[in-house]
Amino acid sequence: MLNWIDEQGAAMTNRIAEWASLCSGSEYPAGLDAMCSKLEAAFHPLSPKPPELVPLTLASRPLESRTALRVVCRREAPILILLAGHYDTVFGPQHPFQDVVRDGTNLLRGPGVADMKGGLVVMLTALSAFESLAPAALKERLGWEVFLNPDEEIGSPFSRSHLVECAKQNHLGLLFEPALPGGRLASARKGSGNFAVVVRGRAAHAGRDPERGRNAIRVAADFVRVIDDLNGKREGVFINVGRIEGGGPLNIVPDAAVVRYNVRTLRAEDEGWLTAEVAAIVAILNGRDGIRAEVSGEFASPPKPESRATNLMLGDIADGARRLGFSLEWQPTGGACDGNKLAAAGLANVDNLGPRGGGLHSADEHIELDSLSERAKLAALYLWRLAAGELRVPDREVARA
Ligand SMILES: [Zn+2]
Repeated sequence: MLNWIDEQGAAMTNRIAEWASLCSGSEYPAGLDAMCSKLEAAFHPLSPKPPELVPLTLASRPLESRTALRVVCRREAPILILLAGHYDTVFGPQHPFQDVVRDGTNLLRGPGVADMKGGLVVMLTALSAFESLAPAALKERLGWEVFLNPDEEIGSPFSRSHLVECAKQNHLGLLFEPALPGGRLASARKGSGNFAVVVRGRAAHAGRDPERGRNAIRVAADFVRVIDDLNGKREGVFINVGRIEGGGPLNIVPDAAVVRYNVRTLRAEDEGWLTAEVAAIVAILNGRDGIRAEVSGEFASPPKPESRATNLMLGDIADGARRLGFSLEWQPTGGACDGNKLAAAGLANVDNLGPRGGGLHSADEHIELDSLSERAKLAALYLWRLAAGELRVPDREVARA
């Protein structure tokens, strides 16, 4: 099986180049549909059951729909594993970064090559290897579900409830987000949320009756200063004010301003702490004459703390790496992904088994080609050893969502 994967290097590279050339930005349904068709064709041969196109809807966006791809096999087996990934990217059709560049080196550059079309190809290759080369007696011990969603880069609003269902229906999960620097796996991930504070004041002529005005930008600026000062007050919590909007002609006291910020959390309890802190700040602002401030937004991803179950999986995967002749480490990271949501819903998972690379979400996004077969072997070997009964199936995480 491992030799077969070694022979797939060129095929894997070609497939990633093909998939990354296809623009599938999260807000570009035509491109997403085209990408989904490619995935459907690629994953079809892996199971006697045809892939299922899962329609996704979202109450707050009633005129839109999306599609996830689900493929299942041997769901009656004693060990059930989820292999998950997203096929959207952050690069919409208007983004200047559209081309895949091969320059004969070990690097392949292109939109989504690392995050995470490369990972999808690693998943496909590992699963193909296991399905075509593992003996029947091994395979019948392992059933799987592949779930590929189109909206991870915008916080998986369309697919969230399906992810929770995936978490309930499987014993453990493998996700193929890009590796951390040096190939390291993610042991824990911070949670993430996006919020906005809308401040309303009162417009007035800056020359004729400025005292009638209530300057919303001034209040928004006060909010920014106070919320930014929360940084450093609580371990692992970070608030990033990322955008402010407001105002108009310079001779009018501005009556509206919006402050948008992202928060990162380390522990589930941080969400309550932040909510209370922000509410207290907003209450003070609302005490000012003629001012109305309101918060909206949500914690889209709960934190994914280190756990005994994920540590067991990380240890087993690192042991597999040793057998393949390299060492593999892991570390916590600030970035959230669907692994957070799956863990919060009770599914132990290792979520960045994709290739090594860099420049994610930028026009420098690239992967290291020699990591493709390495990562595919790592995942395939894990499946094999799991099916062979050499590895323990981790206990369920305590569901928090
Ligand atoms: Zn990703």
